Amino acid sequence: MNEFTKTLCPYCGVGCGLEVSPPAQHGKATNRDSEGTPTWRVRGDKSHPSSQGMVCVKGATIAESLDKNRLHYPMIRDSLDQEFRRVSWNEAFDIITQRMQTLRLKQETNSICMYGSGQFQTEDYYIAQKLLKGCLGTNNFDANSRLCMSSAVAGYIQSFGADGPPCCYDDLELTDCAFLIGTNTAECHPIIFNRLAKYHKKNRHVKMVVVDPRRTPTAEAADLHLAIRPGTDIDLLNGIAHLLMRWNYIDTLFMDECTSNFPAYAEVIRHYSPDVVASRCGISIEDLETAAKYWGKSKSVLSLWSMGVNQSSEGTAKVRTIINLHLMTGQIGKPGAGPFSLTGQPNAMGGREAGGLAHLLPGYRLVKNEQHRAEVEDFWGLERGKISPVPGLTAWDMITGLESGNVGLLWIAATNPAVSMPDLERTKKALLKSPFTIYQDAYYPTETSAYAHVLLPAAQWGEKTGIMTNSERRVTLCSAFRQPPREAKPDWEIFAEVGRRLGFEKEFAFNNSAEVYAEFVQLTRQRPCDMSGLSHEVLQTKGPTQWPHRKQDVLMRGREDAGKRLYTDLRFHTPDGRAKFGAYYSKGLAEPPDENYPFVLTTGRLYGHWHTQTRTGRIEKIRQMHPQPFIEIHPRDAATLGISDNQWLEVRSRRGITKFPAKVTKAISPGTVFVPMHWGKLWADDAEANALTHSEACPDSLQPELKACAVQLVPISVE
Ligand code: SF4
Repeated sequence: MNEFTKTLCPYCGVGCGLEVSPPAQHGKATNRDSEGTPTWRVRGDKSHPSSQGMVCVKGATIAESLDKNRLHYPMIRDSLDQEFRRVSWNEAFDIITQRMQTLRLKQETNSICMYGSGQFQTEDYYIAQKLLKGCLGTNNFDANSRLCMSSAVAGYIQSFGADGPPCCYDDLELTDCAFLIGTNTAECHPIIFNRLAKYHKKNRHVKMVVVDPRRTPTAEAADLHLAIRPGTDIDLLNGIAHLLMRWNYIDTLFMDECTSNFPAYAEVIRHYSPDVVASRCGISIEDLETAAKYWGKSKSVLSLWSMGVNQSSEGTAKVRTIINLHLMTGQIGKPGAGPFSLTGQPNAMGGREAGGLAHLLPGYRLVKNEQHRAEVEDFWGLERGKISPVPGLTAWDMITGLESGNVGLLWIAATNPAVSMPDLERTKKALLKSPFTIYQDAYYPTETSAYAHVLLPAAQWGEKTGIMTNSERRVTLCSAFRQPPREAKPDWEIFAEVGRRLGFEKEFAFNNSAEVYAEFVQLTRQRPCDMSGLSHEVLQTKGPTQWPHRKQDVLMRGREDAGKRLYTDLRFHTPDGRAKFGAYYSKGLAEPPDENYPFVLTTGRLYGHWHTQTRTGRIEKIRQMHPQPFIEIHPRDAATLGISDNQWLEVRSRRGITKFPAKVTKAISPGTVFVPMHWGKLWADDAEANALTHSEACPDSLQPELKACAVQLVPISVE
């Protein structure tokens, strides 16, 4: 028997395959944590097609976090100023279901909210949807993916008629031009970057363009780094389009046969002449022209993006403007080409498939679509009209709902909003007002556990078997390799038990997660994300597989690559089968700098840490790698303020105040400062990046502009 269990790294959306074996079976040196305790052994899975055996420091050290600060038992308290007391699961379930029943009897079901996570497995997501959207009849399920990639979802839907990144990781090694915008791939998606960087280095004809106000390690590797001013992405993209048109690098045949709405777009880009664009973006006309030539002359162009595009008050417009460039040059549906959003979380993609946002239903369906609701109602055996046609509260809506008294029960699972939400002081005040908050997580304490009335211990990575989908639509069976500690349970089992206790025995009569997944995939049949040919058993035998993957794909030989790329037939999911150009003028930042707040603050991630440090803060090697937060500032700005390296700056926005030691570096553009977003109250005093950010969101995706706000800087002395 193979001593290694195959699973997936539970951190980022790259989705690297891991193999894990028990501590007892290995030598002394490699299987101990920093305190000398034997740990599980983790290595890259060479057979996983996405990562081919590679892992970054996060994946390599993950085992050290398995037993640190785990939440072992359900706990409750009547008010936030009390200590928690341990209760049985039975008592915890009774308390939760009584609360829910009371709200239902008062006709306040719509005040029940759940805020979930891209850390969920697909089965967790699916059962949560069925409970809230189906059985309870409220669409108030949203996930932290709202803060991460909902602009990509909205952009794909509006341009192609359906969500879903069309590309695959093999395209990284097939493209002639990689165009990276708003993504520090080298630090945030390191294994994807490894594949691209190696290929780029070996093939001199391949061009890499990086668009980022910071000179990140990603930008260091580029042939061309465009350090645009924050908020000028659409100016740049429309400017490139203007030049592609002027120089006739467009694919007229593709546009005629496969797209719509080009005239409206052409009218917009007419206004983005190189001189205007270069001056708005703060780059040279020569660099703009070079970018356009790289794109126009390349046989295949692959664009990659992540939070720098998505976390914006014009996020959907930015996504569609990237897609426009692909449509006007026919760069989609072929090897090495296409618009490729990189998801932040390990199973944000699975959440999209299972309906894990407030406006979605399973199988890439929309709450607003009558036919979609009817299909799901029929499948779940509900009476017609049970699923509400109104999209539920989004992540930020839940915060404002707490403020206005419209949230009666908030259930937070596998996420840490007391660090990751924008406008943190406002967020925390709202959480304090919550009449009843359930917090379900593997770890305790976290910054959010301080706001809970009920704590539920969740099984985590390696302690439950389930499915995750990575950024290239590759679905992996993640097998459990150990028991959950003490009384921790898989998230889906907790949701299902609440459902049964609310009277939905039949709807939640599942014996294991394989049965949950088997039901879920039926809802994807003949949908864009068709994975009706997949099951735990098929994935166990066949290994990680991309969707679409239908029943007939399993049966037909030679169809193993059915899901490699989308739109190879150049037909899209829109009513007329054509991809639609989006016509957008640039609006810029929601909160531009001014006299009082003269700097633009941008936030981001570091190589070793993951999000709010719930795991990585408990791993010694990573803590040593990134011992404290900092603020990057350009030498010119530092000189104006009269500060040098390591001197402290108080950073003030209209919403909050923080303080950081300065890192004086030319990596950041003048007028802009950078702060990593990983530090909450557990790990440092007054260093929460989101104390400064605002909640202004994209009107289409409702994703907040976490990437930029206006700040002032004041030098201070710290004892
Ligand atoms: Fe895990 Fe992402 Fe690192 Fe891969 S690149 S090992 S998925 S954190």
